[in-house]
Amino acid sequence: MPKLRTLQSRLQPARLTRLAPAPTATVERKRGSAGVADRERIRRRDCGLCQACAANGATSLGVAVDHKVPLWAGGSDDDSNKWLLCKPCHDAKTAEEARQRAAGGLVAG
Ligand SMILES: [Zn+2]
Repeated sequence: MPKLRTLQSRLQPARLTRLAPAPTATVERKRGSAGVADRERIRRRDCGLCQACAANGATSLGVAVDHKVPLWAGGSDDDSNKWLLCKPCHDAKTAEEARQRAAGGLVAG
């Protein structure tokens, strides 16, 4: 009688990415009509233009009011921490922040 063979397990451990815990002093983002008024005020202040592109001498239509320092990283919800960004700049900044957050927090610089 042939000897029974044990099959190798094909299960792989899950690759989980843990988000860094949010700082306990995270500021709540304004919602509802207060948030709408804030975003409109920033849009007008920044003349409807992407401020990151403007810093590089380019002109792009801004579409997203963004927190320069994210709230989860301890940034404030004040106007001084907000700027208008175009979609490519906002998408790139958001992706970079997600990468840094997954790595355990914002990297200085
Ligand atoms: Zn831009």
